[in-house]
Amino acid sequence: MRAIVIGAGMGGTSAALALRQIGFEVEVYEQVRENKPVGAAISVWSNGVKCLNHLGLEEETKRLGGMVDSMSYIDGLTGEVMCRFSMLPLIEEVGQRPYPIARAELQLMLMEKFGLDEIRFGKRMVAVADGPEAATVEFADGSVASGDVVICADGAKSLGREYVLGRQAQRRYAGYVNYNGLVEIDEAVGPATEWTTYVGEGKRASVMPVAAGRFYFFFDVPEPEGAPYEPGTAKEVLKTAFAHWTGGVHALLEAIGPDAVNRVEILDLDPFDTWVKGRVALLGDAAHNTTPDIGQGGCSAMEDAVALQFAFQEHPGDPRAALLAYQRARVERAGELVLRARRRCDLTHAKDAAATQAWYDELRREDGTNIIRGIVGNIVGGPLTS
Ligand SMILES: Cc1cc2nc3c(=O)[nH]c(=O)nc-3n(C[C@H](O)[C@H](O)[C@H](O)COP(=O)(O)OP(=O)(O)OC[C@H]3O[C@@H](n4cnc5c(N)ncnc54)[C@H](O)[C@@H]3O)c2cc1C
Repeated sequence: MRAIVIGAGMGGTSAALALRQIGFEVEVYEQVRENKPVGAAISVWSNGVKCLNHLGLEEETKRLGGMVDSMSYIDGLTGEVMCRFSMLPLIEEVGQRPYPIARAELQLMLMEKFGLDEIRFGKRMVAVADGPEAATVEFADGSVASGDVVICADGAKSLGREYVLGRQAQRRYAGYVNYNGLVEIDEAVGPATEWTTYVGEGKRASVMPVAAGRFYFFFDVPEPEGAPYEPGTAKEVLKTAFAHWTGGVHALLEAIGPDAVNRVEILDLDPFDTWVKGRVALLGDAAHNTTPDIGQGGCSAMEDAVALQFAFQEHPGDPRAALLAYQRARVERAGELVLRARRRCDLTHAKDAAATQAWYDELRREDGTNIIRGIVGNIVGGPLTS
């Protein structure tokens, strides 16, 4: 069996590894000319880590991952610790530690496992088509590739999705902008092994450790859609938005370099049920584009990859049946994560101020039990966490 994978993001590379593990010949095509991931880091929750372990990356993942032993919420305006609790009950319950990992390092790890030289960079898919014997892709340079299946892991603005759905799907602005980057760990911001989140006014400022003594940081700021922004001014924007916040947030703002901040307008897409057309399938953000509010978009892409492998194991030699089994296994689970993230997004960013105030009040009464229950609820239900 030969698979053509479009996109060498974390979804495409995971799928390529998963299919090669069961003996597929796999070709990966990526539009960019070199590996330059946008964004600083992601939290790979235990379900995602289990998928990486399954793909043979246990040691590398552990090496790149930050150690998060505890979690806290702090009132961003006063500095009052609203709650602080151990992550160990979560790790014990799901049987795997989560790992925040620098995005570039995660991406490189996956690419190197597949073989960096084997990825065909500079190949932009411009058309894809199902056929009776094979599915075919056309590239901007006029070349074509065909395989028993085409896996479109071409991200949030997927062209593959347009083909499979037969229409363009409109993404939705989630109401806030995420500013993120990496800084050296500074305990004036938060303990070195803690995921610390300052909350208030529907905003967030957060740090969590990744490998090599660094914090992944992010700030969420509700802003109107398409608000004007001068590139390179993120630090000034944040200094204004968080001017009256507590000392830990100022320490973080002082630590970050002026050019070291990514600015991302957050969008998502209503879940949809059709991920497959004959021999062509969607995977990752192409199939389920979520806000990052529960940190599950990339994990879900990794789950897709493992589920795809399982589907081919159940239906060897029958690509159409395998892809339909993959779709059945994933649509509900991935859609549920998108909607959970959307609800969490609305609560965090004060779409309803009273509901958000009630959440802040709850955080002051929290001993970790409810938050851990919520996170475990996100983690379970995937191919390796059922
Ligand atoms: C601010 C932010 C924070 C996040 N935090 C987390 C987190 O903590 N945990 C988590 O699990 N997830 C997180 N995510 C989500 C995660 O980043 C995505 O879900 C994940 O990157 C999706 O991977 P993918 O491979 O599907 O898509 P992508 O990473 O977008 O990769 C798609 C690839 O396809 C290529 N491509 C596109 N079109 C074509 C074409 N026509 N031809 C050839 N190649 C093409 C692109 O160049 C790209 O390399 C976050 C997202 C954001 C924005």
